[in-house]
Amino acid sequence: MSDTTQPEGLDAESPGCSASEPKGRAGVEDAWGSPLLERSRELGGARRPDEGGSSTVAASTPAVAPRRRTEPQEKRTAVVVGGGLAGITTALALADAGVRVTLLEGRPRLGGLAFSFQRGVLTVDNGQHVYLRCCTAYRWFLERIDAAALAPLQDRLDVPVLDVTKPAGGRLGRLRRDALPVPLHLGRSLATYPHLSLAERAKVGRAALALKALDLADPALDSEDFGSWLTRHGQSARAVEALWDLVGVATLNAVAGDASLGLAAMVFKTGLLSEPGAADIGWARVPLGELHDRLARKALDSSGVRTELRTRVTSILPNGKGRWSVQVPGETLDAEAVVLAVPQREAHDLLPEGALDAPERLLEIGTAPILNIHVVYDRKVLKRPFFAALGTPVQWVFDRTEASGLSEGQYLALSQSAAQDEIDEPVSALRERYLPELERLLPGTRGAEVRDFFVTRERTATFAPTPGVGRLRPGARTKAPGLYLAGAWTATGWPATMESAVRSGVSAAGAALSALGRPRDHLFELFEEAA
Ligand SMILES: Cc1cc2nc3c(=O)[nH]c(=O)nc-3n(C[C@H](O)[C@H](O)[C@H](O)COP(=O)(O)OP(=O)(O)OC[C@H]3O[C@@H](n4cnc5c(N)ncnc54)[C@H](O)[C@@H]3O)c2cc1C
Repeated sequence: MSDTTQPEGLDAESPGCSASEPKGRAGVEDAWGSPLLERSRELGGARRPDEGGSSTVAASTPAVAPRRRTEPQEKRTAVVVGGGLAGITTALALADAGVRVTLLEGRPRLGGLAFSFQRGVLTVDNGQHVYLRCCTAYRWFLERIDAAALAPLQDRLDVPVLDVTKPAGGRLGRLRRDALPVPLHLGRSLATYPHLSLAERAKVGRAALALKALDLADPALDSEDFGSWLTRHGQSARAVEALWDLVGVATLNAVAGDASLGLAAMVFKTGLLSEPGAADIGWARVPLGELHDRLARKALDSSGVRTELRTRVTSILPNGKGRWSVQVPGETLDAEAVVLAVPQREAHDLLPEGALDAPERLLEIGTAPILNIHVVYDRKVLKRPFFAALGTPVQWVFDRTEASGLSEGQYLALSQSAAQDEIDEPVSALRERYLPELERLLPGTRGAEVRDFFVTRERTATFAPTPGVGRLRPGARTKAPGLYLAGAWTATGWPATMESAVRSGVSAAGAALSALGRPRDHLFELFEEAA
């Protein structure tokens, strides 16, 4: 039995690295007389008569881009910096339109914040990742890299919620949906949810309807916090804990009082109140690295993308001929378009002067941590694939046994979001707190041997979804022609999720293709959603 924290290598994998060389910023404006100024059409702008089609992507049908590569008369060139989901998406979308793409990633693997590593026989994910059926862009991404079957969705939303508040023992409730139209699809589940009183359940229903009526395009929503709105709409502290935060903390990485009403409304409206199946949950049945590194790399290779790992970009400068020079150790790459798909702090450090009106705003976007606690037992202690918990510090527990390659015993991962208070606690303290909590929740653990206990810490797992963050998030276009931004933190309207990362990549690729004069119709449905 070992009792270790994840070695420093894990933290070293966390973003937070900045360009090691000074950034040259001179001469930028002179060089911007670029042909890329001729933007043929703006993203989401006027459509050709033949474009037709709907402006939304149904949650039940992912928009799978046809893998059609147009052979241009003259190859356009692009460099994508950052091999997380945003960068991989951008690279694939550009390559699918016939652009010659080079993808540069500083680490030895693709996948950014969603990755796996080896620990003895276990393949461990740095953090449990789930997505919802309404995540149409991420579902497109899974299809695009031939991975959809490896990360299937539940047939129907079904979340076991175990409450151990009362000393007598745990009580199981379920958040489920029926095959009824919105909002009736959740009616029966809410009416029988045992963790709220009858009065609280009625008030939850009324607040959900008020939430549904909010206009997500109203910028005022971003200035208010979700907690205050819930209180104003009659939600008790218990209702916030047992329902709103149960979902909100896991999706926003913040408790209601710390979250922008705009982002929270977006999550609840889209996930729970748009289509009956929108909140059905999907997760990888294999290690994340299998999807976001191996299969993504395979898709990139077969699309002709040149991918360079362990290649950290140190500067991006205009070369005076309407193109860009991208500096990596030992090489300068030349490209017509550059997409910066790196975290906001790195983007700030790499952006040439004048590319954004107020680049310092990027540094005002805060970050929020996620902690994962990993426990390997000598026997099976949990029958379900996952559950959420109340009345305990434990938030969500997932069975990782099969995905990790463990052949004996059971491996559980506890996903602890908004973990500001615990992210720096020693493993011994976390062990002392969480093993007894698991014994309260899962009687089967009581006589079981703990074969391994370790933690993974992601201090900058997401951007902090605080009120006001919306005005800090830039869109894909910069003021520098040919230079674009992508990343879950950019202005996608979504919280920091895989969905947001993929959407940002689609937006950035769309903007670049428009300027490069390359076809974008293979992405139109997604553009409409991402715009
Ligand atoms: C523990 C944890 C749990 C999560 N759970 C969920 C979940 O359940 N569901 C969900 O949807 N989302 C979840 N997320 C969020 C999700 O993982 C991220 O939003 C998403 O992966 C971000 O992708 P990205 O491409 O925008 O950024 P990143 O993944 O940060 O990618 C940026 C890449 O740029 C590279 N880079 C930086 N600087 C340079 C440079 N100078 N040169 C070259 N490369 C550079 C970095 O190495 C990195 O690979 C979770 C995140 C964590 C950490």
